Amino acid sequence: MPSALVFFNELSDVPSKAQRELLTLASRFDQSTLAVASEVSQDAQNVVANYGLSKLLVAPSQGDIFVDHALSVLEAAVKQSASDVVLVANDNFNREVAARMAVRLDGAVITDAIDVATDLVVTKDELAGSYSAQAQSTGGTLFVSVKPNSIDDDPQSSGQQLEVQNLAIQSATAAQVRVVATEAKAVSDRPKLTEARVVVAGGRGVNGDFGPVEDLADALAGAVGASRAATDAGWITHDAQIGQTGVTVSPQLFISAGISGAIQQKAGMQTSKCIVAINKDVDAPVFEIADFGIVGDLSKVLPQAAEEIRRR
Ligand code: FAD
Repeated sequence: MPSALVFFNELSDVPSKAQRELLTLASRFDQSTLAVASEVSQDAQNVVANYGLSKLLVAPSQGDIFVDHALSVLEAAVKQSASDVVLVANDNFNREVAARMAVRLDGAVITDAIDVATDLVVTKDELAGSYSAQAQSTGGTLFVSVKPNSIDDDPQSSGQQLEVQNLAIQSATAAQVRVVATEAKAVSDRPKLTEARVVVAGGRGVNGDFGPVEDLADALAGAVGASRAATDAGWITHDAQIGQTGVTVSPQLFISAGISGAIQQKAGMQTSKCIVAINKDVDAPVFEIADFGIVGDLSKVLPQAAEEIRRR
């Protein structure tokens, strides 16, 4: 059976849901390895051990915020582990890592994967999830970026011993680039969008005011998402965008407010367990996939819902 290598740029004490999904996927293969381009705590190692991976390759961070350190670490890890498939997250950073690595090592890259079988047949979403395709590499190491919420997190091992090895890396940029300043982004108390059990998302219909959307999200301890129309308008940051060119979410409850339900938007949320749509247009396409629909003005419906939830 082929062997798999999972790559993380960093790994905190509590791995994210997307990281746990990748570890689950890797555990289906033989002799799977995890490579991390920064320090890994003992707590994190204990979690990784639950997935039955055999080896952990670590290269301490060099304070390098650029992709080159990740490339150096991954290249060394691929050569050392001789893995057949490399699994990474489907975000911009990791897609760049996968693509550059595939070019450097004369391998292949497949993005937007939702599954990788042990015969290395990759299932991937096409045209915003309208249909899925199966693809196979014809040669070289295969790099696959896997969409979050595609694999059920399912640790199978009872904490077997992980063999930990350090990779000695000198990243190419370390000598050429100096970080002169870093600015921390404001930290939100809300759960991460891709991991939240409840997501309240607003679209063009919020007309510049995300206040009611944020207030309902806070009443439900949920995360705030948005359509591309809302992020393009600058009403909310781009990392809130859900859809084909944004993030994929699959919460227990997705509340859509003032979003029409374009195919590119649905691609990022249609696997949500329960979808509630609020739209003043009874013919809005979002109602086709909604479990519950409210035809009404979101500026009235959202505050009423938040008030009722807080009252209970
Ligand atoms: P609109 O389509 O304008 O809909 C606004 C809705 O709000 C309407 O249905 C209206 O009836 C309703 N409304 C207005 N006022 C109110 C009110 N007061 N109360 C209740 N309802 C109200 N889009 C994404 O979202 N994510 C993506 O990742 C994405 N990727 C794309 C990739 C490509 C290649 C392309 C071509 C497009 C992509 N889009 C994406 C854009 C997508 O096609 C739509 O244009 C976009 O989703 C529309 O956003 P919207 O529903 O907020 O706006």
